[in-house]
Amino acid sequence: MNNLTIGQKQTRLIQALPEQLISQIAAGEVVERPSAVVKELLENALDAGAANITVRLEQGGIKRVAVTDDGCGIAPEQMVLAVARHATSKIASLSDLENVTTLGFRGEALASIASVAYLTLSTRTVDAPHAWAITGNGDQDIVITPASGVPGTTVDVQDLYFNTPARRKFLKSEQTEFGHCAEVVRRTALSRPDVSFVLTHNGKTIDQWQATDIARRSAHILGADFADARLPLDESAGSLRLHGFAGLPTASRTRGDAQYFFVNGRFVRDRLLTHAARAAYQDVLHGDRYPSYLLALEIDPTQVDVNVHPSKIEVRFRDSRAIHQFVFHALSRAMAQTSATAFGSTPAPQAAPSATLPWIGERQQGTPRYGTGFPQELLASPAGVAQTLADYGALFQTALPKPAGIVSNAVPDGEFPLGFALAQLHGIFILAQNALGLVMVDTHAAHERILYEQLKDAMQEDEMPVQALLIPLTFRADGVDVGIAEEHGETLSKLGFDIAVISPVTLAVRAVPALLKNADIEKLARDVFREVREFGGARVLTERRNELLGTLACHTAVRANRALTVPEMNALLRQMEVTQRSDQCNHGRPTWVQLGHADLDRLFLRGQ
Ligand code: ADP
Ligand code: MG
Repeated sequence: MNNLTIGQKQTRLIQALPEQLISQIAAGEVVERPSAVVKELLENALDAGAANITVRLEQGGIKRVAVTDDGCGIAPEQMVLAVARHATSKIASLSDLENVTTLGFRGEALASIASVAYLTLSTRTVDAPHAWAITGNGDQDIVITPASGVPGTTVDVQDLYFNTPARRKFLKSEQTEFGHCAEVVRRTALSRPDVSFVLTHNGKTIDQWQATDIARRSAHILGADFADARLPLDESAGSLRLHGFAGLPTASRTRGDAQYFFVNGRFVRDRLLTHAARAAYQDVLHGDRYPSYLLALEIDPTQVDVNVHPSKIEVRFRDSRAIHQFVFHALSRAMAQTSATAFGSTPAPQAAPSATLPWIGERQQGTPRYGTGFPQELLASPAGVAQTLADYGALFQTALPKPAGIVSNAVPDGEFPLGFALAQLHGIFILAQNALGLVMVDTHAAHERILYEQLKDAMQEDEMPVQALLIPLTFRADGVDVGIAEEHGETLSKLGFDIAVISPVTLAVRAVPALLKNADIEKLARDVFREVREFGGARVLTERRNELLGTLACHTAVRANRALTVPEMNALLRQMEVTQRSDQCNHGRPTWVQLGHADLDRLFLRGQ
């Protein structure tokens, strides 16, 4: 009877499983590894209204996971129920399930954990004279004893999988398991900055976060890279709200490990949301980079099913299309704000810090002033300052122009946020003066972004301005390209190109998009043909379109070492100010940086 192999004909009786085995089966889903225990216990602590939570781990959580909170506690007569399967205080009916606002609701975590580990629950409600503790796993009788302790709850889980050795074998090294546990604590701490967290491992304190607001909590947890390059965002539509921080392209990463999405306060991994975010970033991020973000989606609980996954890490939206659209547009709009106009007109608001409120529910205001700041590491050490001084000293001596009429000290505030050009540095950077100090622009990157946005706008409106060439440019082509010129004339013309077949091996470009008329025309034509060859005419006009326009813009944008006149530079600055997303080139690099008066003072050690 025990040796049943699959496919073997053998009649076995159907029988109800013992409670303990049911829990152990459920534990396979709920308690996959120590970090799952951490997650369940943290959720319980938050559901209990805790303000302070301590997580103690030993040996990556395999030996011990103990979570202490100062939440509401459990009355002694309820304690046995707490560790019973399908017993919960959080829902009582189907309509509760459809409106669930707590993190837990399935009533199986403690029972599942107790079936595969030694679990001790000690708890005290505020009005109880002392605490009570219960110990035992499903194998043993549960014993309740009086205990000492302040109001709140400690759940202490030891020797995970001591009774299911097969499962224990799946556990990884102590360090790996600890890493998973620490990530769960980080996520939870990001979801609730109003709660203090302490994490210890093998007796050492690893992390400690005081209650604060989300701007500070996320800066602590996600680091300066993210904190220095992010846009606060808060968009609502009907009952939907998306808020949090969208990392700027400069905060992007080589892995998708700084992407945090919370739905009604619950951390989720959701393909729909990830996809919407990725699509929104597509325009500002190179394909092999991953955006970083910390976003909270709030939605009417009846519009989302959180009960589709045993550990509730996936959700299902009733109207997934609408959610996708909403998230995509909210993020795209945030990205579009990263133009120079956002700067100068707003007085430096960072995310509104509202001390103790959970950010799930807290309003963020304003946008940061610019996409990127002066590299702080250069200013951080004396050596860095010296190097910077050397770099800039050299440039100011050689490149500062004679005072020109347009260099005005009275820059009208907010009117020309990027100020006025002073000079060009090594044919690469534009130096400009604005009300705040010095602006440096990467000419090629900025021009590329402007062209790209103009091309996209023109295609959107379906009226790409075309420039006919006085003398058509002929070039040698192979049979495939000739075929493309013959078959895809319409696609080419939508893109602003008129390309004629002159002979079986010769093509002639007769017109190009006016925006690109200064480029190497043959190169442009070859770019277009390569795309059509690889992806077909239809896709070139749809999903591949922006990619192609980006390539064309890159090949047309001012190359390094082309000297620009001051009026040309100013024209570029003015165009940047009115161009969406002009803070980044379409590979996600910054196009300009501001060096403020304070930064300059620091460089020269003034006022110190
Ligand atoms: P669920 O969270 O889905 O209700 P659990 O098995 O995780 O199921 O917990 C069962 C019940 O025990 C909860 O509904 C709650 O009433 C109580 N409980 C668990 N942990 C705590 C805690 N830290 N503080 C207060 N009550 C708790
Ligand atoms: Mg729970």
